[in-house]
Amino acid sequence: MQVFFAPETDAHAPEAFLARGRLVPNEERAERAALLLRAVEGCGLHPVSPPRHGAGPCLAVHTPAYLGFLSEAWEAWRALPGAGPEVIPNVHPHRGWGSYPEHVVGRAGWHMADTAAPIGPGTATAALRAADCAVAAADAVLAGAARAYALCRPPGHHAYADMAGGHCFLNNAAIAAARLRTRHDRVAVFDIDVHHGNGTQGIFHARGDVLTVSVHADPARFYPFFCGYAHERGEGAGFGANLNLPLPLGSGDGAWLAALAQGMAAVEAFEPGAVVVALGLDAHASDPLAGLAVSTEGFRAAGRLIGACPLPMALTQEGGYLSPHLSDILTAFLDGLLSA
Ligand SMILES: [Zn+2]
Repeated sequence: MQVFFAPETDAHAPEAFLARGRLVPNEERAERAALLLRAVEGCGLHPVSPPRHGAGPCLAVHTPAYLGFLSEAWEAWRALPGAGPEVIPNVHPHRGWGSYPEHVVGRAGWHMADTAAPIGPGTATAALRAADCAVAAADAVLAGAARAYALCRPPGHHAYADMAGGHCFLNNAAIAAARLRTRHDRVAVFDIDVHHGNGTQGIFHARGDVLTVSVHADPARFYPFFCGYAHERGEGAGFGANLNLPLPLGSGDGAWLAALAQGMAAVEAFEPGAVVVALGLDAHASDPLAGLAVSTEGFRAAGRLIGACPLPMALTQEGGYLSPHLSDILTAFLDGLLSA
């Protein structure tokens, strides 16, 4: 299996975000990639640095205004008198009315869903290189690979067409899906991160050619709160092409694997030409975000379950935060996937 990782993504080093009214250390740190790389190499896989594409492939799912904001925000922010070290929004428009703002504080509010995706000096570069990893994995699949894994950092599945959020800036899974869609009539995205893949759902909400399926902790009590509910099925031409499978908080292997089997069956029934797996590892019981309670063996079983699907597959790394088990979780998943 080909693995893609760009060392430049370490340039994104967020410091803090606001949680329950407190400024706390940001969990989406470069050490994550080091731990995930250890797992990849332990499986005998050798990551390669992907080709650089710039913003081109991102335009398939993101707006030019948003991509412009990402590339310009840090410089404009640092020029403000008294600016803090990271772009963190403090005003938010009511979407649906109002005018696109010119000032960077206004643009930050417009393009950032929450305070959990701070933009620092290396963020734009890192996000583009993470997207390059996703594009390379999709291209490997288009070239005939059965499986390819993009070790993306920062992750992507909370990013909408024009909005960052939840540690995510560019939606790597959606970018990979769009890339696969250039060759295949139908593509599916299967998201197993503990958080609902709200950005991916939003991007493809009105499209019938891309199925989005997400298994996650119940948003009634967990981020992203505003969506991820079972009744959200898509709209217009996309009605029926979104499936949310929320689980009660604290659910373990049995409920999670049953939901994954249901989701995988929906993916196969859609008859896509290729699949993107948004591979979050934060459903594990040891994850600091503590939404579900899946075991390491549960992730091995998930790898087997997903690996049994005969469709070609590009995997993008989503969440999974710092814990003593992070390497072991990925090792178990990849072992299951590759042995299926
Ligand atoms: Zn997550």
